[in-house]
Amino acid sequence: MLIESIVRKTLGLKRHRVKEVKEEDGSLSVHLVPDGRFKVICSVCESKGPGYDTLRERQWKHVPLWGIPVVLVYAPRRVHCARCGIKVESIPGTKGKSPLSVPLSIVLASWAKEVAWQVVGRFFGFHWNTVRKAVKDVVDYGLRHREIGNVLLIGIDEISRRKGHVYHTQVYDLISKRLLCSGKDRTSETLETFCDEMGEEHCEQIEAVCCDMWAPYVDVIKARLPNAILVFDKFHIVRHLMDAVDKVRREEARELKAENPEVLKKTRYVWLKNPWNLTDKQKVRLSYLEKLNLKINRAYLLKEAFRRFWDYTYPAWAKKYLDQWFWWATHSRLQPMWEFAWMIRRHQNDILNYFKVRIDNGAVEGLNNKAKSISHRAFGYIVPQKPSTLLSITEWGNFQCHN
Ligand SMILES: [Zn+2]
Repeated sequence: MLIESIVRKTLGLKRHRVKEVKEEDGSLSVHLVPDGRFKVICSVCESKGPGYDTLRERQWKHVPLWGIPVVLVYAPRRVHCARCGIKVESIPGTKGKSPLSVPLSIVLASWAKEVAWQVVGRFFGFHWNTVRKAVKDVVDYGLRHREIGNVLLIGIDEISRRKGHVYHTQVYDLISKRLLCSGKDRTSETLETFCDEMGEEHCEQIEAVCCDMWAPYVDVIKARLPNAILVFDKFHIVRHLMDAVDKVRREEARELKAENPEVLKKTRYVWLKNPWNLTDKQKVRLSYLEKLNLKINRAYLLKEAFRRFWDYTYPAWAKKYLDQWFWWATHSRLQPMWEFAWMIRRHQNDILNYFKVRIDNGAVEGLNNKAKSISHRAFGYIVPQKPSTLLSITEWGNFQCHN
């Protein structure tokens, strides 16, 4: 196959052809010319029109071949468009003023999802700033082509970075499992921005929202998503419960420090893990500890009893069980469990909504970790989750970034 054919195929040339490929200063310069048999296409509205004039030659960086830089060279024409007036023509494989070809942007941004920008740059022989531009081009494209019409269930989650010093709020579409919006900080602002961008009509369409019992969100949800049922996320609730159990363990370990410092050492996961995930050694340890009439054992039993709550089908039965559990927890004489029980009671209605709309943020957990590793490298740009191929820029889209 000739280089001409590769270029023609990867750019999808129809109304242009490759005039020649020259080796200039160690790179391959691909000179494109218009195919005179066709009319000129307006880059704004994609309609055909007569040519107006020809502009100066421009260059675009293209995907390197066998490590050899490739440059596209073309003198764009202007079109006399009936709708838009005099505009630059649509040039295959390029977008707007970007000095990078679209396939190159996709290749670089795809790699930028996996490794650091500097590494991508070194590997392809570009400055890291070129990689940054590629990511920006692709993100901007995604923003413009974001489909938000059919978002019905959303999940809101926070990811922490730099050991919890920086938080990002993420809004996910729970049906298609894609990231819709990402903003710095754990404030209501991100959610407000999301609602502004969705528009009132789409906001009204949203049927349910899943999130943590975090007050600023709750207010925004009630104000801006009038038809959404609020469901407190199961995984967040369980995390709060685990924190309470662990607090009981730490307090008791402190109390026992003088008389029996060894007894609770390294038992954190014995109490927190699901019983069926314990190792044999942990099982032996647990059955020994269970006989000691420890406070942490009471907390452990409460934690295990809470598990049954999620198994109910009908809200009324779930509520009955929750009332029962509340009584146990508030009579356990364990302060952290008492606090957790009251937190649950305060948010009870929205917790019980889980039995009306069974959604949780479990499915987005994986996306969260991915977003974490990406945003760590991408200075706040969130790159879409979908893999892409060289030619299909339509794969990209449906995500958002704020800096
Ligand atoms: Zn036009």
